[in-house]
Parts: sequence; C-alpha cells; structure tokens
Amino acid sequence: MIDQFGRNIEYLRLSITDKCNLKCIYCNPDGKLCTPPETFQLSVNDIERTVKAMVRVGIKKVRITGGEPTVRPDLIDIVAKIAAIQGIEDISMTTNGLRLPQLAVQLKQAGLHRLNISLDSLDPVKFEEITGGGKLSSVLEGIDLALSIGLTPIKINTVLIRGINDDEIDGLIGLAKDRPIDVRFIELMPIGPYGESNKGSILTSDEVLAKRPRLTLLERDDKGAPAVYYGIEGYQGRIGFISPISHEFCGDCNRIRVTADGKIRPCLGQNGEVDITPFFALDEAEFDAKIADIIHHKPRGHHFNTAFNSKRNMNRIGG
Ligand code: SAM
Repeated sequence: MIDQFGRNIEYLRLSITDKCNLKCIYCNPDGKLCTPPETFQLSVNDIERTVKAMVRVGIKKVRITGGEPTVRPDLIDIVAKIAAIQGIEDISMTTNGLRLPQLAVQLKQAGLHRLNISLDSLDPVKFEEITGGGKLSSVLEGIDLALSIGLTPIKINTVLIRGINDDEIDGLIGLAKDRPIDVRFIELMPIGPYGESNKGSILTSDEVLAKRPRLTLLERDDKGAPAVYYGIEGYQGRIGFISPISHEFCGDCNRIRVTADGKIRPCLGQNGEVDITPFFALDEAEFDAKIADIIHHKPRGHHFNTAFNSKRNMNRIGG
C-alpha cells in the first residue's frame, strides 16, 4: 500500500523472538534473554493472523527475524503457515546461521525461499569474541548446506566496526568469488548502548569503496531494497553496501516491522510503536483498517543523525 509519503510499503520484517543464542557486542552485549518465558510473545496463530492482514493491505514479502529466529521451537510451523498464505511472493529469514546445519532442510521443506546470514568475521577467535561465544565453523557449514539445497540467493550481512573487523573486508568480499553469495557491509547504527557510544567506529561505505576501485557500481534491480550493489569482474556474487548513516535511504523505504511482542514499529530509527494485540479482538475488516492506518502514517525517516536513543536493542526490534 502507498503511505503518506508516496512509498509503496510491501515488505514486512517480522520478529518472532527477542531471544538469541549469541551476544553480539553491538546488538545485545549483555546477552540477557529480553523475553523471559513468562513474557508475552505472539503465538503462531497471532503471527498468521497478522501476516494475513498485512497481505490484505499490500504486503508481498516477509522476512522472519529476531532475536535469533532459529531458537524459537515452533519456527518450522511459523514458516509453513506464512509460506501458505496466498499473496506472499517472497519469504526469507535473517539468522546468525549457527543452527542451519540442523534446520536448513526443514526450513526449505516448510517453504522458506532464501536466507540472510550475519557474519562479522572469518577468524574463528574474533568471531567468538564479537558474538560472545559463536562457533564460526557451524555458520560456514550452514552456509554451504543452504547453498546446496537452494535456500538462495544467500546474502551475508557484516556490520563493519572500525578497529574490530575492518581488516577483514577483503577476506569477506572473497566469499563472493566462487559462490553466488552477495556480501553486504552494514554501517553500525546507533541502536543500543554500543552503537550509541561508538559513533566514531562507523566505517562508511564511501571509505571502503575509496580503497577498492575494482568494485564497479551495478544497476539497482530493486529500488526499495536498502543495499547498493557493486560487482567485481570474475566474481559470482555481488558486494552490497547498506549505509543508513552516510546515505539515508528512507525516501525509498518499503518496509514495516512487527516486534515479537506484537508492536508495529513503522521506522527502525524512531521509537514510535503501536501495540496490535488489542486488534486481535476485532473483526477482519476492522483489523485490516487499523493496520492500514498505521502503515499509512509511517514516518518520513530515521533519527539516527540526531539525538536518537532507541528504547529497544536491535534484538528486541528485529534486525
Ligand atoms: N539473529 C539474527 C542474525 O544474527 O542475523 C537476526 C537478528 S539480528 C538483530 C539482524 C541484523 O541486525 C544482523 O545482521 C545484525 O548484524 C544487525 N544489527 C544488530 N545491531 C546492529 C547495529 N547496532 N547496527 C547495525 N546492524 C545491527
């Protein structure tokens, strides 16, 4: 549907849990389980109802995220329910990849199309440090398995942090050489204590590109997608840059977020949220009208470059 600024909102970023099996320094460093078991999170039925309403008002693509979606025991059921909804053209998931060796085949069978996998280092020791205990070999195994069973195209997401993993840019780019993998570098956002107090650690895409003239700009195939892609001669995959800080792309934003506890967050970079759980008591037409109204009023753009303090860490929003 078209929002108040003329943007076509067709992409739902759906968080299904706040919990994560990692504690990445920039995301959820204290590793607290932000949704203790007794705290409310949307059930499979609530999720299905929400996605169906979203589809009726114009959503065509769904990306499941978290927290870490693979820690939710009913993940396969959730994927299957969403995949079965008529009108969904694309269903993908963002994951740290740790549990893919166990889950990739079931995810594919349930109807998942493709994966985004977060990977901030190819050095096992540094990977463990950044993620608070993650095992790199499991993620790499998961990537290979996902490729082999066609959970593709695969996008690797790397949050670049000056002094932490900026020495790994070329190694990570190398993942795109012989495999159809897009490697995307994301600017550190001021969400949560680490991002808010380490603005000097942001490495802009222009800085990375300035040192790598072999990257050539590719035509944009999807204007609503946040990444700008570059190619390298002889490489199968592309290199993407997601630059919310240095090159705001809010004017093209086509997404809406739902948090695991049932709040619509129309903009990642603003704290405004609407609790949709009371709408579950409404009939279908009333429910749809509420959702359409929230989407229509999606704000113009993020507040990252002003005095923004996110009330939620990224694991509680859904990255
Ligand atoms: N657990 C899954 C994963 O690791 O991909 C999905 C959730 S995670 C919150 C989603 C994405 O958010 C990851 O790619 C992560 O790197 C990114 N992210 C988290 N905090 C961020 C921040 N402060 N700035 C930029 N990206 C961030």
